[in-house]
Amino acid sequence: MLHYKNSRDKIEKIRDGSLSLPENVNYFLTRIKENKHLNAFNFVFEEDARKQAEIIEKKIKSGKYGKLAGMVIAVKDILSMKGKPNTCSSKILKDFNAIYTSTAVQKLIDEDAIIIGRTNCDEFAMGSSTENSAFGPVLNPADTERVPGGSSGGSAAAAAAGLCDASLGTDTGGSIRQPAAFCGVYGLKPTYGRVSRYGLTAFASSFDSIGPFTTNIEDAAAILQVISGKDQMDSTSADLPVPDFPGSLNFNGKKPLIGVAKEYFLEGLSTEIKHAAEDLLEKLKSDGFTVKEIHLPHTEYTIAAYYILTTAEASSNLARYDGARYGYRSADGRTLLEMYKSSRTEGFGTEVKRRIMLGTYVLSAGYYDAYYRKAQKVRRLIKQDFDNAFKEVDLILTPTTPTTAFKLGEKSSDPLEMYLSDIYTTSANLAGIPGISIPAAKSSEGLPIGIQLLANQFEELKLLQMSSYIQNYILKAGK
Ligand code: GLN
Repeated sequence: MLHYKNSRDKIEKIRDGSLSLPENVNYFLTRIKENKHLNAFNFVFEEDARKQAEIIEKKIKSGKYGKLAGMVIAVKDILSMKGKPNTCSSKILKDFNAIYTSTAVQKLIDEDAIIIGRTNCDEFAMGSSTENSAFGPVLNPADTERVPGGSSGGSAAAAAAGLCDASLGTDTGGSIRQPAAFCGVYGLKPTYGRVSRYGLTAFASSFDSIGPFTTNIEDAAAILQVISGKDQMDSTSADLPVPDFPGSLNFNGKKPLIGVAKEYFLEGLSTEIKHAAEDLLEKLKSDGFTVKEIHLPHTEYTIAAYYILTTAEASSNLARYDGARYGYRSADGRTLLEMYKSSRTEGFGTEVKRRIMLGTYVLSAGYYDAYYRKAQKVRRLIKQDFDNAFKEVDLILTPTTPTTAFKLGEKSSDPLEMYLSDIYTTSANLAGIPGISIPAAKSSEGLPIGIQLLANQFEELKLLQMSSYIQNYILKAGK
């Protein structure tokens, strides 16, 4: 059992000798083995983690240590780490080892976190269930007949099952928030540009963001603070000051104004999730928060715009996997072109191929205006909806997902059904705004229900403060 509330408490306990970091790492390694059936990890760094535990425990005891000292973190197998496999859960990168470390992971290491392994995900982060993985599907720890969500399903399952203190995932259209909701943990997608994408294997470059999965809000704040900031290696990273997230979790005086958009409560939403959201809103009102109705009129176009723009970007980003330079190369093919074709045909899974073809189509000369350009315009309208909404409110509260975790295989033969599980999450990526999923309730079947909060660009602090209030005054108090 873990006898600490969060990573700060963990450091205190290591300092006063009531917790041994090597034993703690050992505990996680044992839990990972005991939960092998979840298939949450593609790679576990047993030896490295044990070695780091010794070193970092000494640092903590000496009084000189990093902000995340001793925090045991799992990383999605899409964020590169020098000398380690970076497969993106794809056959095409099966034997590929990264040649540099992603900025986000390097920042964790620099603050004395321990990277325990690399987690399973949908191939190239394309999916909502982690069933599109060359390593096989991940199971949901809350019910192993169900999916953990995706694409960062391994990271969510690892955090929820207590296989690590926290994990990193990526969110292009919901891949942190949706699996967080399905597994019952906190999942934070920062503003686009808050965290450097250097070393994140690109899916859709203007959407991709990196963020944490945690079991408490303090750890989410601590990780966000460490991984945020301008990076010379990513020109889209924002040159803005990073607030002291973990040190500012309490509201100072004014309670934020909460917006609710009816577009997020239409048909298709499970009644239990709807009730969970309404229940939370009622409790917030009775605690003196003001809830205001707002409108996000272009919501119905989010899925269409998202799947046009992200597949277009993916078709370009994934052109680099040709079998010539690295990764899988087919033995078939007498000419260069044949070698490209068969390497890609054999190396990519079905969903990835579907997206490359769709993306190539929407970018093709005859269809560019009809699809790609139009979707770009819709993206702008969706962003404007949020700009207008945030003139009126500080935060927007929505369900994270329309349903709780679905059964394995339930949606795998129907891509459109699968895409609809991102109906409440893709808008934040289209608009570049931050969002968080909070584990707010359980369904009658005992499945986790997530509630999403959205804020304006670079206002993660508002998300964290509100989440902290919900964690401490509503959920913990059992109101
Ligand atoms: N499920 C969405 C998709 O398949 C989102 C994926 C993601 O955020 N990486 O595109």
